[in-house]
Amino acid sequence: MADYVHIFDTTLRDGEQSPGCSMNMQEKLQVARTLEDLGVDVIEAGFPAASDGDFESVKAVGELGLNATICGLSRTRRGDIDAVARALETANKGRLHIFIATSPIHREFKLKMSKQQIIDEATGAIEYGLQFFDDVEITAEDAGRTEMDYLVEYFQATIDAGARVLNVPDTVGYVTPSEIRQQYQHLSDHLVKADSVILSCHCHNDLGLAVANSLGAIEGGARQVECTINGIGERAGNCSLEEVVMALRTRHDRYKLRTGIDTTKLYPASRVVSAVTGSSVQPNKAIVGRNAFAHEAGIHQDGILKHAETYEIMRPETVGVPENTLVLGKHSGRHAFNNRLEILGFSIGKEEMEQLFVRFKQLADRKKSVYDEDIEALVLGTQHSGPWHLDAISIHTEVEQSDQCAEASLKMRFDGGAPRIYSGRGDGPVNAIVNAIRKIIDDELHVEEFQVSAVSSGSDAQGRATVRATIGPSRYQGTGVSTDIVEASAQAMVSIMNRHHQHQGKEISESRITAAI
Ligand code: MN
Repeated sequence: MADYVHIFDTTLRDGEQSPGCSMNMQEKLQVARTLEDLGVDVIEAGFPAASDGDFESVKAVGELGLNATICGLSRTRRGDIDAVARALETANKGRLHIFIATSPIHREFKLKMSKQQIIDEATGAIEYGLQFFDDVEITAEDAGRTEMDYLVEYFQATIDAGARVLNVPDTVGYVTPSEIRQQYQHLSDHLVKADSVILSCHCHNDLGLAVANSLGAIEGGARQVECTINGIGERAGNCSLEEVVMALRTRHDRYKLRTGIDTTKLYPASRVVSAVTGSSVQPNKAIVGRNAFAHEAGIHQDGILKHAETYEIMRPETVGVPENTLVLGKHSGRHAFNNRLEILGFSIGKEEMEQLFVRFKQLADRKKSVYDEDIEALVLGTQHSGPWHLDAISIHTEVEQSDQCAEASLKMRFDGGAPRIYSGRGDGPVNAIVNAIRKIIDDELHVEEFQVSAVSSGSDAQGRATVRATIGPSRYQGTGVSTDIVEASAQAMVSIMNRHHQHQGKEISESRITAAI
C-alpha cells in the first residue's frame, strides 16, 4: 500500500465548523452519500461531544451503512471517547480520532501539563479507545510550534500504545512545502515502526499553500491527506480534495501514487457541497471552477481543436464536468430525470425520488426549460426541513412616496398544525417579510446580507435568495429558490427560522465546543 494515498475528508467536521457553512442533518447525510460515491477512504463526520446535534448527526452518518470508514473526533477525556463509541456503534468501519496539544505554549498555559503528562494523557486515551475501536488516529494539535525531538518522542509513545494513524496538522497555515517535507521525512526516519502506521497531513490555506504543503508532506512520507470538498473550512479553508487528488493523478509520472477517488465524481461533489452550504465556488477555482476548462483565447481554441493536449493537461470529462448541459422540460420522463440526477451526483432513495419527480413536473409547467441548476435547487430545496412551513405568501405594494409602502402576509404552519397568518409592513416586500417574521421570533433578528441571483439562464429563470442573518447571538444562512423572487426570499427566511429552531435544541445541554485543529 506504499503507493496508496488515503483520502480523509473532513468537509462535515472542519468544513462545517466554519462560519456560514453549517449544515442540517439532511444536508450532512446528502454530503456523506456524495463522499461515499466519490470513493473517499475516511469521512470525518463530526465531533460527537461538541453538542447533542453533532452527536446525532455523526450517529446518523454511521447508520447509513457506508463502505467508507466513519470517523469521530474526540479530546482525551473518557466522556468524549464514549460519545464517539456510542455514535459509531452501527458503522461498518469506525475510527476514533483523538487530539491533544503538544506545543510549549499550550503545555504551559492551556493544559498546564509537562511533556510526559501529555504523553501519558494521549497514550491513556488511545488505550481506553482501543476497547471500542481497532482504528485510532492521534493528532498533535499545534504540531507546527512543537519541538521536533518532542514530536518524535510523543508519536513514538502513541505508536507503542496502538495508534494506527499519526496526524501532524498545520492548523494556522504557516509552513512552506519544503519545510513540511523535511518534517515528515524526519518523522519517517526517526520513528521506530513508522512503516506500520500511516502519517497524515492536515493543512490550512492561509497562505494559499494547503495543497502544495499536502504534496510536500506526501513527498516526505505522508500517506493520508485530510481535506475538504471545494477547500471549505475555517478562515482561508482546508486543503482542497479535488486539487490534491488531480495533482496526484495528473502528475503520476512524478509522484507514482494513487488514490481511491473516482475523479469523474469530483465536479458533481463540488456542486452538491456548494449548493448545500450556499457558498459558491469562485469561477477561476482549479478543477471545479466555472472557467477551469474554458479556453477563450483564439489561439488556445485553435490548438485545442487540433489536438486537445496542446493546452489541456486534464480533460473536463476526467473530473466529471458534464459534456452537454442537457435541458429537461415538461415532456421529459422519469428515466431522463433519474439519469440527470445521477450525473449531477445525487444518490436518492425511491420514495424521495417519486416526490421529486412530482415537483419536477410542477416546475416544468411553470418554466419551459429546466436546467441542471434547477434540478440541484429542487433536490436541495426539499431538504431545508424543520417545523416551520410556508404555505402561501401575498404581497401588496403601493408605488407611492412613502417609507411604509409594502405589506406582506405569510400563511405559515408550525409542526403540521393549522395555518396562521403573520403580517408585516416595510419599505419593500423583503423588508415587510422580515418584519412579519420578527413577530414570530422571540429574539432580535438582524439581516446582515441579502442576495438574489438567477439559478440558470433566461428571463423565466428561477431566483435563488441567500440570506445571512443573526438571531440573538447566533448566525445563520438560509436559501430559497422559486420562479418568484419574493417567494424565494420568504423561503430563505423560513429556512433561517428552521435552522434557529434546531440550534435552540442543541443549546439545551451545552454550548458547542469547537476543535482548533
Ligand atoms: Mn483544521
